[in-house]
Amino acid sequence: MSRYDYDLVTLGAGSGGVRASRLAGGYGARVAVVEKSRVGGTCVMRGCVPKKLLVYGAHYAEDFHDARGYGWTVDGTGFDWTTLVDAKNAELNRLEGVYQGILRDNKVTLVEGAGRIVDPHTVEVDGRTLTAEKILLATGGRAVLPRIPGIEHAITSDQALELRRLPRRIVIVGGGYIAVEFAGIFRALGSEVTEIIRADALLRGFDEDVRSMLGSEMEKKGVVIRRGSTVRSLEKKGDALLLALADGETLEADEVLYATGRAPNTRDIGLEEAGVALNDKGAVVVDEWNRSSVDSIFAVGDCTDRINLTPIAIAEGRAFTETNFNRNPIKVDYENVASAVFSLPPVATVGLTEARARARGPVTIFLTRFKGMRHTLSGRDERTLMKLVVDKATDRVLGCHMVGADAPEIVQGLAIALKCGATKAQFDATVGIHPTAAEEFVTMRVPVPETP
Ligand code: NDP
Repeated sequence: MSRYDYDLVTLGAGSGGVRASRLAGGYGARVAVVEKSRVGGTCVMRGCVPKKLLVYGAHYAEDFHDARGYGWTVDGTGFDWTTLVDAKNAELNRLEGVYQGILRDNKVTLVEGAGRIVDPHTVEVDGRTLTAEKILLATGGRAVLPRIPGIEHAITSDQALELRRLPRRIVIVGGGYIAVEFAGIFRALGSEVTEIIRADALLRGFDEDVRSMLGSEMEKKGVVIRRGSTVRSLEKKGDALLLALADGETLEADEVLYATGRAPNTRDIGLEEAGVALNDKGAVVVDEWNRSSVDSIFAVGDCTDRINLTPIAIAEGRAFTETNFNRNPIKVDYENVASAVFSLPPVATVGLTEARARARGPVTIFLTRFKGMRHTLSGRDERTLMKLVVDKATDRVLGCHMVGADAPEIVQGLAIALKCGATKAQFDATVGIHPTAAEEFVTMRVPVPETP
């Protein structure tokens, strides 16, 4: 009989924590998972899932408009924000039930409350003590806001998903994933949207052609992007908020959404006291086996700040459990991880940007910008961008980038090709599906001329 209450206690029932815990339970381990909020975590309850439902909802605005070009009479459409938010919440409740069921089915004990590490084998949850042979940290991350006067009037994406009224005017601060996704949602649904970015382009870290294309496409849809701009302070004036910008101008809005990055949830949970090393961003330092500086304590997902995406947290959770509870050592492969931004239009990417690839050696670039067939009749002036970054020496495709309808669905398939080490010659030898936008990825023959 083990001297501990459990074989595994997991802190956090999000994507990584649930996957690790339920697999471990399935392998016969005695597992408890501690959660202070909702089972499902950021992605399911406050991130990817509700956001995508709102993106679907927002897209109908464009679809109704475009249908006219195809002969439809579209009269009397109307939109009710509360109906969408309520339907989204009902779906989240259903999903939470599904996740709770998965834990139950795998005999994982759910402990509701805030967990705190007391020592390398002990977790305390609201006065209750749980001991475990291994502890898994899967505590995720949270939004971080700059400390400027009046910041308490701003909302984060958590509250943006719960607004009881659609704002007539919203200012969004930040140019990352979350900012551009919410800019697309609110603009399509009819809000006046101003996005304030301190850089000169959206989506730092993405390919430069993608960054400029997304900016211009969002501007065509009416999002006002203020580049090289920062907010000095916020002030409440009646029902409105006043934003004082560094250049002296003042903006007025009904809501101000800050999407200025996220930080690991590692504070006040006893980590430093237990000797768990954190890096300068507060993330848990782990080795390739997800083990922290304390032998019995492991960590997966956003609290480790490696690649902060749900499928990565899930892969890390699985690798942890296979390694520790199924005698099947697995490491996560972080090469060629595809990702998407559900902006309007969406962005998807896998592999290296042109700049990163060039830093490694000579490359050939293939790039196309075109109006999709759908928009020949819709009348919408929306363009698609596709780009391939190819290694000159080996002909391997190092990066695929796309801005345009269905980009995430298309690039998911291309990610398999990159994972297999596909060459440009193999892309060229692939017969396209006609007529699709995706076929452009296998029919780009003329490289972008090299600038001397
Ligand atoms: P990001 O790190 O992607 O972007 C933060 C943005 O805020 C940047 O534009 C940054 O500007 C700006 N910024 C940072 N600090 C300040 C400041 N003090 N004042 C003004 N602007 C500032 O963070 P997000 O919050 O958008 O997203 C967090 C993470 O969540 C992402 O890294 C991603 O991994 C994940 N996520 C993934 C999604 C997906 O896969 N579809 C969707 C949503 C989130 P600058 O560029 O100048 O630094």
